[in-house]
Amino acid sequence: MAKVSNQSQIEAILAANREYATEHGTTDIPIRPARHLAILTCMDSRIQLFPVLGLKLGDAHVIRNAGGRASDDAIRSLVVSTNLLGTREILVIQHTDCGQHRFTNEDIRHHLLAYLGVDAGETDFLTFRDLTESVRGDIQKIRTSPLLPRDILVSGMIFDVATGLLHPVDAADADADR
Ligand code: ZN
Repeated sequence: MAKVSNQSQIEAILAANREYATEHGTTDIPIRPARHLAILTCMDSRIQLFPVLGLKLGDAHVIRNAGGRASDDAIRSLVVSTNLLGTREILVIQHTDCGQHRFTNEDIRHHLLAYLGVDAGETDFLTFRDLTESVRGDIQKIRTSPLLPRDILVSGMIFDVATGLLHPVDAADADADR
């Protein structure tokens, strides 16, 4: 195994990649996801998304950010995914022990002020207090976006980082408002 530098992971990553490429070979997988699926989830390092969902290369689009939140930029990706690249189903997966639940907007703003001397003003970092409500709210935001097709399926799940199990979120409340 390559030595990991204190400065950067690049050297180790490139060495690992050369090994990976021998197994990857040359593929000709279509750009459109085979399962017509787009997944929005958290950047958390404990979510090994494709094995968690039984997916393989070429099956699904993956959009990740802090919290797996339906931010404007996540919606931007979903617009391209659904309208131009044929996905018909969106799955929102948020998880237990998420940093976005652990920290508040005020925590992040205070940190930025203390360590960077930057006033983040009213910037919303999309932290949340209730995990289930966060999933439901993001399902609702996706379902009501005028930039997304009306007939796509949108559902939500919570991933338990301790057990590896997915728990579907009842989005009935979100349905009622559609
Ligand atoms: Zn998270």
